[in-house]
Amino acid sequence: MIKHAERLAGIDARLADVVRKAATFLDFDLLVVEGLRDEARQRELVARGASRTLKSKHLVGRAVDLAPILDGQLRWDWPLFPRINEAMRRAAADLGVRLVWGGDWRTFRDGPHWELA
Ligand SMILES: [Zn+2]
Repeated sequence: MIKHAERLAGIDARLADVVRKAATFLDFDLLVVEGLRDEARQRELVARGASRTLKSKHLVGRAVDLAPILDGQLRWDWPLFPRINEAMRRAAADLGVRLVWGGDWRTFRDGPHWELA
């Protein structure tokens, strides 16, 4: 199940479809943390070190941040993000969409982040 699915509004429809399909592969809930982002928010995130770029794909609706909810609890522990990524990859393959996972980045590993390639 997806929590705050309304946050998928404004992102690329293919990416939103991947998220919806991925959720069906998981045995825990997915929280949509953030989808589309405005420039003011992006500047704020860079200022506090939570993002490294002013050209984030969130600004153009080509990125989404997701987190797991287990037993009603929002979780940030790392081992859960590769499980979400597995579901995201499988859903993307089924739908013919190419995705990049922030968890694969070397310089600024971003486990909750997926974007269109
Ligand atoms: Zn992100």
